[in-house]
Amino acid sequence: MEDIGKITLTSAIKGLRAGDFSAVELAVALSEAVAREDTRLGAYLHFDAEAVQNAAERADKERRAGSDAPLLGVPLAVKDIINVKGEPCGCASKQLVGYTALFDATVTARLRSSGAIFAGRTNMDEFAMGSSTENSALKITRNPHDHERVPGGSSGGSAAAVAGGIAIAALGTDTGGSIRQPASFCGCVGVKPSYGRVSRYGVTAYASSLDQVGPLTRTVGDAALLLRELAGLDRRDGTTLDVAVPDYTRALNGEIKGLRIGLPREYYIKGADPEVTERVRAAVDRCAAEGAEIVELSLPHTEYAIAVYYILATAEASANLARFDGVRYGHRTANPETVFDLYARSRAEGFGTEVKRRIILGTYVLSSGYYDAYYGRAQKARTLIRDDFTQAFEKCDVLLTPAAPTAAYRIGETAHDPLRMYLGDVFTVPASLAGICGIALPCGSTAEGLPVGVQVLGPAFGEEALFRAAGAMERIFEV
Ligand code: GLN
Repeated sequence: MEDIGKITLTSAIKGLRAGDFSAVELAVALSEAVAREDTRLGAYLHFDAEAVQNAAERADKERRAGSDAPLLGVPLAVKDIINVKGEPCGCASKQLVGYTALFDATVTARLRSSGAIFAGRTNMDEFAMGSSTENSALKITRNPHDHERVPGGSSGGSAAAVAGGIAIAALGTDTGGSIRQPASFCGCVGVKPSYGRVSRYGVTAYASSLDQVGPLTRTVGDAALLLRELAGLDRRDGTTLDVAVPDYTRALNGEIKGLRIGLPREYYIKGADPEVTERVRAAVDRCAAEGAEIVELSLPHTEYAIAVYYILATAEASANLARFDGVRYGHRTANPETVFDLYARSRAEGFGTEVKRRIILGTYVLSSGYYDAYYGRAQKARTLIRDDFTQAFEKCDVLLTPAAPTAAYRIGETAHDPLRMYLGDVFTVPASLAGICGIALPCGSTAEGLPVGVQVLGPAFGEEALFRAAGAMERIFEV
């Protein structure tokens, strides 16, 4: 078998099909790598090697019985916010310590019926609120390229596991960048599908009008393969659309020649780390040299995106997290004196600082007297941001931008400066507000050896354009 630290989803599937190795052999190699590496990396909150090997044994048996399910025997790591029946699902929060999922999320059910094995729960910012995984109530996750640095977030555990060679592929969620930014920080590939492309059923809600599940993988091809398994209409999530799911892998071998790549002026700004901008510019030059047509354009409402996102996301979060009250869900305080005391202390003890900050902010922007000034205006500005993208995609097929304004920063560096942390989301939140799709892939590294990622954005339900562009870029960039 290939080195488990390098094996791709595509080659794992091929190897299992061809009988080069069994699912059990794969599971054992993976479990050993996790046992060896994860004490330092801290990507997993939970990894049950025995359960993974038992599932692998069943997969091998099914294959011998003639099954040819597309992901049969392939182990996948899952962010701790997506329900997998029988496994812990704690959203890296004290609220849900000891909780075991009672049902499968739709994405999980789909993967299960495709034969996948669930291997490990990955660390994240509590309830997916954050950009560094430092807001996890449970542990620190380190960047595999430099253990003193963050892996990004909120899907930091998934990105670190994939890039660190201890997951073949993983699931994350992206509300405002939580797949794309950690992929960029860790040097792997991450896709945020268009809003409505993938079901949110069984995924603990952060900001429901923005949340999407997507893959974190070692290659663009792996992401294309996995997204196809995840995507599609789900009657349990009324926001999924009845749009056919194409075989995204077919788009991968398309040429970059003739592709119109838009460069939004507002994403090439002074405030970003010059080294990052330089690497991304070099990537643009390589695309141009291969015959892509570069179109400079403007997304004029970009400057409002952070403010709009942090109003809408916190507003939705304050509503979604109201259910963690110690009665219906979540941690319950000991010996409450009154009902109010029960609610107040359960919530005070259960939520971490950042989650509390957002609940308070979200409650404020929704409160009477302020609703029109904040929430109402943010909704209007969201429409303008979406219109910017609609107009841009009349002039180009995809947009190319940095995924984040910096490479991975040091653990602790930004943790106590929430505003600075929020500003780091400047390149990812506009696409989330617009509901369009995006992919992050590595394009090079800094002088210190930290990965730098580009972000390719495509129109809503334009994932094929995204994969065509990213597939070609992966070949051109040769990272
Ligand atoms: N960093 C952003 C936030 O903190 C995005 C998080 C996410 O996409 N879940 O809200």
